[in-house]
Amino acid sequence: MLANKTALVTGSTSGIGLGIAKALARQGARIVLNGFGDVQAAQAEIAALGAEVDYHGADMSQPKEIAAMMAFAAVRFGQVDILVNNAGIQHVARVEDFPVEKWDAVLAVNLSSAFHTTRLALPAMRAANWGRIINLASVHGLVGSAEKSAYVAAKHGLIGLTKVTALETATTGVTCNAICPGWVLTPLVQQQVDARAAALGISNEEAKKVLLREKEPSMQFTTAQELGELALFFCSAAGNNVRGAAWNMDGGWAAQ
Ligand code: NAD
Repeated sequence: MLANKTALVTGSTSGIGLGIAKALARQGARIVLNGFGDVQAAQAEIAALGAEVDYHGADMSQPKEIAAMMAFAAVRFGQVDILVNNAGIQHVARVEDFPVEKWDAVLAVNLSSAFHTTRLALPAMRAANWGRIINLASVHGLVGSAEKSAYVAAKHGLIGLTKVTALETATTGVTCNAICPGWVLTPLVQQQVDARAAALGISNEEAKKVLLREKEPSMQFTTAQELGELALFFCSAAGNNVRGAAWNMDGGWAAQ
């Protein structure tokens, strides 16, 4: 389905980004990975699927490094056809205690990076009259949770950017949509499970149940594979006229 397409997935050395990169690779896309995790392992997982793969280590909080990554992808594979804005970080604290530098970092990585990649990817997508921009927002782009001010603000902002990008490309073959997962058991969430286990003096398994019970009626984590399948739908012909959606895959979290 995606032969001769190039997909750039930010923050794809682990978790959801790697899951989406693998789903796209299975459909024949060339993959540009990015992120700070185990690069060799991530590259090997993609190569094992028979896909061409390369990596750029840009820090998504740095606009100049983002520009270098976009230029690298264009030189390496021609152009970016599918852009998945996935890199994200979390910090948990009350507003009055929230470290200013953490606020700036969460906004830079979770929101501003998507502005920079999108503005740099759009000209070639418009010229080809085909493109897919998929923004990994969160259920926290739709509803709030205490102690996550920067994350919730960034994810609401990312859904706003998704809508405006979709409107500006509405008459073209370029679409832009957001995915809004609930809990997905990746390193980002495992940190929160560990914190909960330590604070409550309970086991890891019990802490997972506490986390799910608070927010997610299905009592199930969404998986990176499921999110990969949703990304494939946005890339398919059936997704041609899906524009500006914020699609939750959250076990009923936002339905409450
Ligand atoms: P993760 O921690 O497993 O992966 C995050 C990736 O981003 C890693 O590859 C990491 O190296 C990379 N990264 C972090 N800072 C970076 C930077 N400055 N520059 C470049 N790369 C950077 O996290 P995840 O859970 O897979 O999260 C992926 C996305 O999904 C994030 O945007 C997150 O907010 C969102 N999300 C996650 C969940 C969840 O439950 N895990 C739920 C909703 C939304």
